[in-house]
Amino acid sequence: MTAPARPRRLLPLLTAQQIASLQLDLADPVEYRKSGLSLNHVIGCPLDCSYCIRHIYANFDMKIPRRLMSDEDAVKALTGHKYFRPHVTPIQLFNKATEPMLPVVKPHTFNTLRLLDEQGLTNHALIITRWRVSEEDTAVFNAFQNIKVTVLVTYSGISDSGIEPVDSKIAAASLKTLYANADRYRTVLYWRPIVPGLNDSDLHLNTARELADHAHAAVFTGLFFRDEIADYYKAHDLPSPYEDTARRKIMPEDTEARILDLFRRPADSAERWGPLFRKTSCAVAYAHGLADYNGHYGIRELCDICPKRQLGLCAAAWRAPPSPTPTPSPGPWGRAPRSRSPNGRSSRPAWPNTPATSCSTDTVSRSTTAPTPTASADTAAPRSGGTEGSKEPPPREVLRVAPSPVRR
Ligand code: SF4
Repeated sequence: MTAPARPRRLLPLLTAQQIASLQLDLADPVEYRKSGLSLNHVIGCPLDCSYCIRHIYANFDMKIPRRLMSDEDAVKALTGHKYFRPHVTPIQLFNKATEPMLPVVKPHTFNTLRLLDEQGLTNHALIITRWRVSEEDTAVFNAFQNIKVTVLVTYSGISDSGIEPVDSKIAAASLKTLYANADRYRTVLYWRPIVPGLNDSDLHLNTARELADHAHAAVFTGLFFRDEIADYYKAHDLPSPYEDTARRKIMPEDTEARILDLFRRPADSAERWGPLFRKTSCAVAYAHGLADYNGHYGIRELCDICPKRQLGLCAAAWRAPPSPTPTPSPGPWGRAPRSRSPNGRSSRPAWPNTPATSCSTDTVSRSTTAPTPTASADTAAPRSGGTEGSKEPPPREVLRVAPSPVRR
């Protein structure tokens, strides 16, 4: 099968006036993110996932997908972006304001990938979906010759339809179809959001563990609980999982420990937790047999569960960035490099013997056992990443806050 031709039925374009009424960062189809460039020239989604990032862009009420511009113009805007580097810059497609595998959006997803692929570009291209993926769709993904496609399947296992209106069985079926038919692309179990009281029972964890066998890698993470999302929960009388919000995803420490216990393979010295990762880029890189592209190597709380071979790949690929300057210069794909000590290691204490207590650089770790909300400064040096998709640097503190009881 060859890659798809131009879609026959195009989504309507928004008018200039409609575009002018959008938040500025939604009207711009290319967004610089800490994990690459995000291309979003289709906006609007009928799925009402309560924790959707569209709340942040004041776009949650737009239920019918519409285009900001043509796929051709969007690809031009992407490849002409000042931080785009051919073959290097990771691309995320339709990860901000729509669902890329909806029937009306899918033709644009495929066409945009085709336009990139036909330029001979070998950049990573990430598609994140929770919707249906058919065998025909996998044939299209397999048809791309150059672009490195990874389809990440968002799976939560949450059964409260007020919070998660899309049955997780759809995502589970899509993941299995993707994995069974993968040839040129890779698929990742994107296990999120993990929320205390909603989907962290032993049954939930075991189900996700079994699902991970149908993916080239798995990544797990918590809830992105920003003010806008908390407001939506309150307005719709949804059970609030936490007493307060955070700039980063929230992952309870004890849940992380249970997940690691579940994935642990005591007899497998090469992959002691299997292909399980805390960071999306690590899972994507592993799935393609490549080093992490997002500067995580050397962070103990991330790399301590990584397969040995992958650690070797990342170690071999790591290069000391130039000395920090007052105005950080862009890294290889436009991102300011983090500082390292002169010996070439991370400037934070590397690989101490104490066990990890926090999940990751993009996660505010919240202990479910701490009795009162307190914040303790993490003495670690600045870390390299923020929330997946975040434009801001990561926090330097690790909060240890007890979650509020989940109302049922
Ligand atoms: S070694 Fe570290 S940076 Fe590299 S993939 Fe593993 S966890 Fe990620």
